[in-house]
Formats: sequence, structure tokens, C-alpha cells
Amino acid sequence: MHKHQLLTRRRAFAVGAAAVGAAGAAGLFVTGRGKETASPAAPAAGPRAARRPLKPSAYRLQPLTGYGPPPSVPGLPPVRRAPLLRVSGRGRTMVLTFDDGPDPRYTPDILDTLAKYDVRAMFFVCGEMVAANRDLLARMADEGHVVGNHTWSHPLLTRLRRSRIRVEMERTSDIVEAAYGERPEWFRAPYGAWNRAAFQLGAELGMEPLAWTVDTLDWTSPGARTIAARVQNGAAPGVVVLSHDAGGERSQSVRALRDYLPELLDSGYHVTVPRRQPA
Ligand code: ZN
Repeated sequence: MHKHQLLTRRRAFAVGAAAVGAAGAAGLFVTGRGKETASPAAPAAGPRAARRPLKPSAYRLQPLTGYGPPPSVPGLPPVRRAPLLRVSGRGRTMVLTFDDGPDPRYTPDILDTLAKYDVRAMFFVCGEMVAANRDLLARMADEGHVVGNHTWSHPLLTRLRRSRIRVEMERTSDIVEAAYGERPEWFRAPYGAWNRAAFQLGAELGMEPLAWTVDTLDWTSPGARTIAARVQNGAAPGVVVLSHDAGGERSQSVRALRDYLPELLDSGYHVTVPRRQPA
């Protein structure tokens, strides 16, 4: 375990050092104000960048130091002021995300569908769910899915003290590491309720904040057809889709995926996961 943690930590530093490159390479945009402001903004452009304007092609080649908000811990991701909402990439790339699990009633079916079409997705898991279903995290690792941190017990972070937020996030990263084999590189605040402490602590733990572009609202049980229609209507290059594989009765989400995934693929979408890449 210690050896593994050391390796993970070293990897985290290597990844963090490439944070600016990652924003370009993995093609992540910060849009900041929600889906109505879909135009991309330069993730590394902070006040200093404003004083010393650089060509868009140039700033991606600059080292992290001196550009954008300073990392709270050297070598780790920058402290963002808003979550990432979409990904960029060449062509029709989309990301599917499933929150609140894993749940043995629904997650295996979702994994089966993803496997059937050889597609990778992101699972923002809650630590307390992982504790009871470690085998599902092992399966996610085996099948190449990306696991993100969605806190331990899914609280509203904006109502918690900083010390409590830290416990929620850190405990979850620990159990993900134990069950999945790596510490998460992404986190998502429950209910999409972010605050500065969450951004700071997430960065300290080596994670980037990822929100979503299209909300299926599957938790309202609108019917599998409606969920599938929301994904199809929202489909566009760079879109991140939010669904749930736990937190309630999710059979509609399971059925919807069986419908919309083959249709997205038939429409030419490359359904994939964002990866942090070395510069
Ligand atoms: Zn959630």
C-alpha cells in the first residue's frame, strides 16, 4: 500500500506539473457561468496573462509558474474559480458521466452496455457506496473507465466547514485508491454546489473540478425515452452528459443508455473520457 501510494503521489506530481499542458492537451475549457456561456475561455489566462497578452497558441507553451491562479501546492492542479463544463477535442467527442454510485442494482447493467459498445465513461462515486461495492470499482478499473470523487456521503458542501469538506473528499480519494488502484484526478461537487474551499481542497488532492454540459434530469424519473431524447438533443462536440447510476431507482437511466449510446455512435460521436496527459 505504501509503495502504491508513493507511486500514485509521484504520478500526481508529474500530472500536476503538466497542468497547463493538460488543459490544452486534454482540451478542457472553463466556461465559468453555466451552459449559457458556452464560449471557451483560456484556462491559464489569469490577471498576469491579461497584463502580458500572449497569443492563444503561445500561452499553452508557457510553464505553469506565473500564469493563472497559483496552485495551492506546487506541482498540483491550479485552484480554479469555476468547474470545467465541457471538453474539447477534434471532431465529435462526448463524455458520459454517471454519479452517486456504484450501486449493484444498476451499475453492472451500465457497465455491460458500455462494454458492449467498447465505450469508456466516467463514474463520480461516493465513498460510502464504494465501501460496500469495491468489486465494482475493480471492474471499472479493468474496463478502462475513469473514476472521479463525488464526496463520501453526498452532502451540500456549501453548508459544511472546510475541515468537514476535507474529510468528505480525502476519505473518498483514499477508498477509491484502495478499490480502483489510483487516486481520482477529477471531482464533482454534489448538486453542482461548488465553493472556494472545494476548489482549493480538490486541487490539493490533485483533482480537477468537472461539472457537466447536458443534464438528463434522470433522477426525476421522466421515462427512459425522455432521458434518451435529452442526450440526443443535447449532443454536440465537447458535451459532458450527467446521469446517475445510484441514489434512487435508476432503471430508466439504464434503459436510456441502451437506446442513446448506439445512436450517438451511429451519429459519428466518439464517446470517451478526458485524460490528463503529460506535456
Ligand atoms: Zn450526486
